[in-house]
Amino acid sequence: MHKQCQCGTTMGLELRKVIFAGKVEILHVPVFSCPSCFSSEVLQHVTKDIKELLQSLGDNPAARRISFARSNELAEIIRKLVLEEADNPNVDWQSSLEERMELRINLLLDLYRYARSLGDEDWMNDVEKKLTQLSGFTSKSVFTNTKN
Ligand SMILES: [Zn+2]
Repeated sequence: MHKQCQCGTTMGLELRKVIFAGKVEILHVPVFSCPSCFSSEVLQHVTKDIKELLQSLGDNPAARRISFARSNELAEIIRKLVLEEADNPNVDWQSSLEERMELRINLLLDLYRYARSLGDEDWMNDVEKKLTQLSGFTSKSVFTNTKN
């Protein structure tokens, strides 16, 4: 999982704690960071969901700590991947990520069909939202510098 920084160095994908409004801590935010010039950016694919999460907290949020992985499928997949493969020196992050995303999407599609067979619209909407968080993200987009 790499991306080219503007300074030419390869950036790494990692999960970070990001603090908003000086008091709201959001854990497990996928971020690209550069080990050379220390610039970093939130993964574009999740910025919309982070904005929504912040908006849901209102104008004057109380101090709290939230895990972004609890409301975002992609962050959750990366969180588990990092957790389970951290000690594996031979892990191929890109194919592991792709594999896990594919498994998760298949599971969600099964759930969606099941929810539809029950006529449970709330459940269908919930699963659909999760699928949207994963669709459109390919690890190829991770390799392209889309900043400019
Ligand atoms: Zn850099």
